[in-house]
Amino acid sequence: MRITRRTLLVGAGAGVLGVLLASCTPEPAPSPTPDPTSTPPAPEPTAPTGLEPSAFIRSSWSEDPFSLGAASFTPAGVQQSVRAALAVPVLDRLFFAGEATDEEAPGTMSAAVRSGVAAAEKLLDASTTGDRVAIVGAGLAGAAAAARLAVSGLELTVFEARDRVGGRVQSHVDDDEWPIPVQLGGWLVDDALDDVIERPEPLNLRTETLSGALWRSVEGDDLEAVSAKSLTDAITAAQSRVTDESLTVALTEAGADPADDALAALLAYLSTLSGADADQASSWFPPVVPPIERTAVLGDLGKVFEDLLGGTKVSLSSPVSRVAYDDKGVSLGVATGESLSFDRVLVTVPLGVLKTDGIEFSPALPFAHRGAIADLGMGLIETVWLRFDEPVIETDASLWHTVGGDATIRTWLNLAPTTGENILVGLIGGTAAGEFAKLGDDDARAAALASLAPFLGTTESPTP
Ligand SMILES: Cc1cc2nc3c(=O)[nH]c(=O)nc-3n(C[C@H](O)[C@H](O)[C@H](O)COP(=O)(O)OP(=O)(O)OC[C@H]3O[C@@H](n4cnc5c(N)ncnc54)[C@H](O)[C@@H]3O)c2cc1C
Repeated sequence: MRITRRTLLVGAGAGVLGVLLASCTPEPAPSPTPDPTSTPPAPEPTAPTGLEPSAFIRSSWSEDPFSLGAASFTPAGVQQSVRAALAVPVLDRLFFAGEATDEEAPGTMSAAVRSGVAAAEKLLDASTTGDRVAIVGAGLAGAAAAARLAVSGLELTVFEARDRVGGRVQSHVDDDEWPIPVQLGGWLVDDALDDVIERPEPLNLRTETLSGALWRSVEGDDLEAVSAKSLTDAITAAQSRVTDESLTVALTEAGADPADDALAALLAYLSTLSGADADQASSWFPPVVPPIERTAVLGDLGKVFEDLLGGTKVSLSSPVSRVAYDDKGVSLGVATGESLSFDRVLVTVPLGVLKTDGIEFSPALPFAHRGAIADLGMGLIETVWLRFDEPVIETDASLWHTVGGDATIRTWLNLAPTTGENILVGLIGGTAAGEFAKLGDDDARAAALASLAPFLGTTESPTP
């Protein structure tokens, strides 16, 4: 993602400006000091498959201190309505947005946009012209709120902890290594495409439909497509019971075996959407059952943020560590050491961050907010992109699933049919994503390549 100086105007205060400008000017990389006693570097681990990618990149959202997870989910036994409680303004001074506050489609890009616009409307209702307003977080929720507030006559500053905007949306643009932008965060959009990328003028971002599925055994045999019917039936039955149970319990009570290889493959796919394992997720408020087609943004999503944040003061590398509020205003403590006063503040940091003491609220947030933060779950999703010089297999299928076995990555997106490039995108969700995130790059790469074993060597037609 590229962000130009044009979009990054001056932050509030000289210290913040210094940090902002520093963040725009890359430091020269330190040159390593040669160590005459060092042994030669260990050879790169070779994949058991013998397959070597010409480019590899991975995400690490589970470990990233400014996300601490990928997407909020509703655990079994928790009401979806706690999300609305999290979005309630405090003293008309402190406002909240972010995907976790959205009841309609939490954990998605459209949720983030919708929540940002809704919070901006509430903030506007409480404000008078000239109010000093801060937004904490320059992800989709913060950027959508900023776009709404930019035309309102308020004095607006966005504080972003990272040295880039976008949050859990991150297009990695590297024309030498990758013929299309790599999407390390959200990029698969469903109905709400327009909310995200068509505002106010079309950004002409390339999108493609990913369709056609391969379901393969670990031995490499093609299998019948796994139907989601047993899952949807179990959810329907569970929703008429008196207590909320996890998806695992719902399936078991419906007579299905969640450990069955085919169902486990479907549940692995489900976890790449929600970030939750089936034994965590609510059956009353279940994750979206995996669709058979996905719409993928193949362009640079950085353009969305340039559009939404154009003209707004954005202070990068400025993690907010303290939010002190009363009925007269809000003071923000920024990790750069500054303390800045505002009339109102909109907090859009991820649920994963709110669950830690990374931001101190003074006084503590009301019980309803703290209850919601404690009750909701932060799901884990990681992604790995691999580019090959040759096709791994010839197939028109864009979604690949491994049935059975213990592969680290069981869900793959094949971008070859839509882009002509030999790019495979591995998706991992739930506990497996957390474990994957802890691996070093070499081990992660080897695990990803080993997971591709079922898809090597044969040519097949996709299962419709
Ligand atoms: C791997 C992955 C795949 C995904 N796939 C999809 C998908 O295909 N489709 C889909 O719809 N959604 C997907 N999502 C979810 C989607 O990306 C998120 O729901 C959405 O981007 C969240 O936006 P947000 O503004 O609520 O939060 P964020 O984007 O996380 O924005 C919050 C911002 O706050 C900043 N921040 C954190 N702490 C501080 C602090 N102390 N001070 C200042 N700033 C701070 C963060 O750096 C961040 O920029 C995916 C997410 C991940 C991680």
